[in-house]
Amino acid sequence: MQLDQLLQQRLQARREASLYRQRGLTDSPQGPVRKLAGQSFLNFSSNDYLGLAADTRIADAMIHAVRTQGVGSGASHLTAGHTQAHQQLEDALAVFTGRERALVFGCGYMANLGVITALMAAGDAVFQDRLNHASLLDAGRLSGARFSRFGHLDYALLDAQLHRSRANHQLVVTDGVFSMDGDQADLPHLADVCDAHQAWLMVDDAHGFGVLGELGGGCAEVSGLLPARVPILVGTLGKAFGTAGAFVAGSEALIETLIQFARTYIYTTALPPALAEATCLSLQLVQTEHWRRQRLAELIAQFRQGCAEAGLPLMSSATPIQPLLVGDSQRALQVSEVLRQQGIWVSAIRPPTVPVGSARLRVTLTASHTAEQVNQLLQALTSAWETVNAEY
Ligand code: PMP
Repeated sequence: MQLDQLLQQRLQARREASLYRQRGLTDSPQGPVRKLAGQSFLNFSSNDYLGLAADTRIADAMIHAVRTQGVGSGASHLTAGHTQAHQQLEDALAVFTGRERALVFGCGYMANLGVITALMAAGDAVFQDRLNHASLLDAGRLSGARFSRFGHLDYALLDAQLHRSRANHQLVVTDGVFSMDGDQADLPHLADVCDAHQAWLMVDDAHGFGVLGELGGGCAEVSGLLPARVPILVGTLGKAFGTAGAFVAGSEALIETLIQFARTYIYTTALPPALAEATCLSLQLVQTEHWRRQRLAELIAQFRQGCAEAGLPLMSSATPIQPLLVGDSQRALQVSEVLRQQGIWVSAIRPPTVPVGSARLRVTLTASHTAEQVNQLLQALTSAWETVNAEY
């Protein structure tokens, strides 16, 4: 069979299963309003949780840095691409996370691949929550270590798996805030289970950093655990921080090991230094502009109360990720489409991103939304829900 013929068949099967994905062409900066093809939508699908992605102060810092340091880094970190700006960001992230050092990666996907494949190999074992982000699951499989998943937040099952394990080294990996569910790992409990079996704990807090904790230090800050109990901490910079990239924070030995062995760090061009410089400012704003987290907390409470009053199937979450469980993929698409007709953008999340039968509308709130906009969302959701349910 010709390649294209085969691919057309696969694409058609995906369409028929209501799993086909399309990219919208955004024509505006990140913010509460998204413009597409000349039309404006209230945007509830962004991970720009603190509303910093289009902050003019960060933009000015980046423009200034581009003028003084150029656009591209031109090389990998280990050749000639590591600059003062990257180093400053790493130092600031180490202080922010209370770790000895931090290392900046091109993105979260690469950070996760790099860490797990650098630390684990055949003879070792990696244990992951089954709802972990795809990059963690992929990294576990790629590492060559024995790979197992435990039920979501089922630490009793993890405990049993660790008990049976005869691996040389054991790594337990979890999302801090689960990206499609919005709920959180119980880090103190998880750290106890890891300690009992001398397993290492890695937490990817892509959605918690900046958002959770008094200073935005994420799950680790909220849990109050000593750094040694969460020896590998990953954060991303393209969500609450509003820029791009990711980091791993941990001990001196961990970071030096990653510089030597993490292939996704070594064999790739360093991020533009101007981006690192802009992120340094963003990190300061994350820590000092507490009103952003307060605003988010108010909007989350408003949204949850509104959903409860309207009887909408909201999932359990205290974070800006507030999914409504629909189940069927086609139905989730329909609700999303009816909302769109009312000028509201909420993405339908379907398998394989989420387990089969658990398609959902992933509502995300940000500090740049207003209470009025959340009310509009609630009204539109209530009527979209009724419209679609009436058809079933
Ligand atoms: N980890 C988690 C939990 C995520 O949700 C994401 C992105 N959605 C990533 C890692 C990947 O981060 P990045 O977008 O920087 O590649």
